[in-house]
Amino acid sequence: VKRNGNEPEFLQAVGEVLMSLEPVVEKDPSYETNGVIDRIVEPERMIQFRVSWVDDNGKVQVNRGFRCQFNSAIGPYKGGLRLHPSVCASVIKFLGFEQTFKNSLTTLPMGGGKGGSDFDPKGKSDNEIMRFCQSFMTELSKHIGADTDVPAGDIGTGAREIGYMFGQYKRLRNEFTGVLTGKGLSYGGSLARTEATGYGLLYFTEEMMSCMKNDSVKGKTVVVSGSGNVAIYATEKAQALGAKVVALSDSNGYIYDPNGIKLDVVKQIKEVERGRIKEYVNRVEGATYTEGCKGIWTIKCDIALPCATQNEIDGESAEILLKNGVQVVAEGANMPSTPEAIDKFLAAGILFGPAKAANAGGVATSGLEMSQNSERLSWTFEEVDAKLKQIMINIFHNAYDRSKEYDVEGNLVVGANIAGFLKVADAMKWQGVAY
Ligand code: NDP
Repeated sequence: VKRNGNEPEFLQAVGEVLMSLEPVVEKDPSYETNGVIDRIVEPERMIQFRVSWVDDNGKVQVNRGFRCQFNSAIGPYKGGLRLHPSVCASVIKFLGFEQTFKNSLTTLPMGGGKGGSDFDPKGKSDNEIMRFCQSFMTELSKHIGADTDVPAGDIGTGAREIGYMFGQYKRLRNEFTGVLTGKGLSYGGSLARTEATGYGLLYFTEEMMSCMKNDSVKGKTVVVSGSGNVAIYATEKAQALGAKVVALSDSNGYIYDPNGIKLDVVKQIKEVERGRIKEYVNRVEGATYTEGCKGIWTIKCDIALPCATQNEIDGESAEILLKNGVQVVAEGANMPSTPEAIDKFLAAGILFGPAKAANAGGVATSGLEMSQNSERLSWTFEEVDAKLKQIMINIFHNAYDRSKEYDVEGNLVVGANIAGFLKVADAMKWQGVAY
């Protein structure tokens, strides 16, 4: 706390994990005595840099770029790049820390990292986005590489931004390698990467419901927050599994469609026109729009899938969800529930899928993209999707089995933290204390 006092998001993430690890350290105190616990909460490297670029009016703009190389015990650093005005050292460190455990859970050889910038892509022209991405990569390229650190997309960084960054990296280094994931299909991207986090969230949710409650997503009413990459493909798979998704949001407000969201309309607005979600009500009869994104949690549902951003469900929203009879909460976004909200969900005994397990499908498929790049082969959509599904099922069982082993059956927060920790911690032990 002394060292990171001004980093609330980071402290929140570390606090949750350390609490879960208490029984592990009790069982094997060597994790404490050999300093694994002290080392695992300190990033290996934190890079901060200036990103200057010229806007369409010829004015120089300055942003701050970050890359946090958190842990490389089990593989090259891996994690997304977030472009959003709220990006700061604390946010990037919390995401890098969480990523370390998430990547471990996927069983693929990937360390943890995260990066980004306080650049706001909203309202910027295509050329401005390109100039920003090129400037950002000019510095970032000094620190990454296909065997060192492989960034990917995140909030504000989609296929367009990854394309500009990849082009700039290749130009600077004169090499065509899998240095980024989430690439376009014509230059090394993987089929199913776009869908992966949302689809993976539903594969996880389905397995959790089937195994812990002998139930399924079919026929359930679902609320999904956000309307970006994760939210759209979570909606698509939920609908494919027979659920009715009735709401989506963005940072301004939420839409409610009692007849079930028409996803083709959402995709047109968000993916093609890059517009706002409120536009939906102009195109679909019977749908309503309400200002303010928090109100989405007052809608009655069986399953809540927060897919927007951190701390979007607080204690108050959790209480309303529970009062309205929610049975399942699974996190598509990173750390979307506050600690207070998580406590309420767990105390109520509903099924709760924590982010680092439930949304690991994106990075898992990025890992599969890395494998395809190394092989210089492309797998079919069905091949990648089948692997993704199996990985999500395995992640659920890994977290669930650990929860049983440590006498907190069904507490997947603790189960996932322990499962993710043990692999990284053992690798750190074997690599010596100077690592
Ligand atoms: P996108 O940029 O595609 O979409 C983000 C969505 O969340 C938008 O609808 C955005 O609305 C909304 N949002 C962002 N910030 C806020 C805020 N402060 N308050 C309310 N709404 C907000 O990002 P992704 O869908 O890729 O990411 C969503 C979450 O999922 C993030 O937490 C990300 O870290 C996590 N994640 C993403 C993965 C991926 O593969 N993409 C993998 C694993 C996790 P607006 O347009 O108004 O900003």
